Amino acid sequence: MRLLLHTCCGPCSVYPVKQLRESGYDVTGYFFNPNIHPYREFKHRLETLHEYAAQVKLELVTDSNYALEDFLLRALSFKGDRCRPCYEQRLRQTARYARNNAFSCFSTTLLVSPYQKHELIKEAASIIAEEEGIPFEYIDFRVGWQEGVTVSKEMGLYRQPYCGCIFSEKERYYKAGRGRS
Ligand code: SF4
Repeated sequence: MRLLLHTCCGPCSVYPVKQLRESGYDVTGYFFNPNIHPYREFKHRLETLHEYAAQVKLELVTDSNYALEDFLLRALSFKGDRCRPCYEQRLRQTARYARNNAFSCFSTTLLVSPYQKHELIKEAASIIAEEEGIPFEYIDFRVGWQEGVTVSKEMGLYRQPYCGCIFSEKERYYKAGRGRS
């Protein structure tokens, strides 16, 4: 089974790639994350992913299209949780690439993080799979989160301190009322 694995970053790939390979999948990583801000952070995460992929001999497809404007338009115009259009943008592109390049199915490393909206990812990916005509392989990778953290540190991989978008960067560093006037 050829599986296209949407990869948000190197550290989050550690456990899913290992688990999928042990289950017999032929895994290819697919990087498409225009939500990441700023561009230097995007580049840093992509470089880290290449570093990881080289160490474990993971084939990687990289979409270097940094569609930040598209992501921001979707996030700002969406009435509701901005993570939904963020997941949808990334997973739809992954599903289309998988379908057009003879993969059997697709999945995502986003399913490993206890900090992501797991049920929302699962729901969005299932709808996209139906619409795009390619199976979504749902696996709850969260059981391997800690193992992924440990191994990624042993491998010396950069671990980012926020989810990725400019909004999550603000939420991490900005404290209302504590700015300088
Ligand atoms: S918090 Fe994370 S998942 Fe949600 S919109 Fe931002 S980058 Fe995307």
